[in-house]
Amino acid sequence: MTRKERFNFVISYFQQHAPNAETELLYDNPYQLLVAVILSAQCTDKRVNMTTPAIFEKYPDAASLSKATFDELFPLIRSISYPNNKTKHLIGMANMLMEKFNGQIPLTVEELVQLPGVGRKTANVITSVVDQQPNMAVDTHVFRVSARIGLTVGATTPLATEKQLLQFIPKDLVYIAHHWLILHGRYTCIARNPKCEQCGLTPACKYFQKNKAKPAS
Ligand code: SF4
Repeated sequence: MTRKERFNFVISYFQQHAPNAETELLYDNPYQLLVAVILSAQCTDKRVNMTTPAIFEKYPDAASLSKATFDELFPLIRSISYPNNKTKHLIGMANMLMEKFNGQIPLTVEELVQLPGVGRKTANVITSVVDQQPNMAVDTHVFRVSARIGLTVGATTPLATEKQLLQFIPKDLVYIAHHWLILHGRYTCIARNPKCEQCGLTPACKYFQKNKAKPAS
């Protein structure tokens, strides 16, 4: 199977089986999504979703969040990973939104990465989820699943993975392909023992062919 054929197989599988894949973070607007994505670093979406309602109620927009003090916000974030940094990042992010962006979430990667707590991955998530821009956010799941299947070859950094995926995935599918790969990594192609017996990608998966396929008799 050529790499192009591998991509075609994977894309048509997900188009058929996960046509409506989307983020599992709960949000109502771009501001809420940005807060949730910043909080989700090194933390499960489930835990973030337990945390955000209280934050959104107390701080419904960038203006209110920009006025929060560390001591006011920290208790709402305490139960998730890296609460110190995330508290500082959220307040800093809201302040910059007010000072530079009129309180609105900018929708370019170049502008978003200027905000405290926002790196390339977060900026790609925001622009692809809010605006369906063809930006591929590569987290640990996307990185691992892409390499296992053989969608990427020899990619050793998230940026290399991003570039290789963008070479083959049609632009109008990039925003959803991100969710396909994340969700597949979260529930099926899990880190320690991938559930290949439940996976529909085996015919196109390099890892499966190499490690689990029965030799032809
Ligand atoms: S066949 Fe196994 S390794 Fe390949 S994508 Fe599916 S779960 Fe992952």
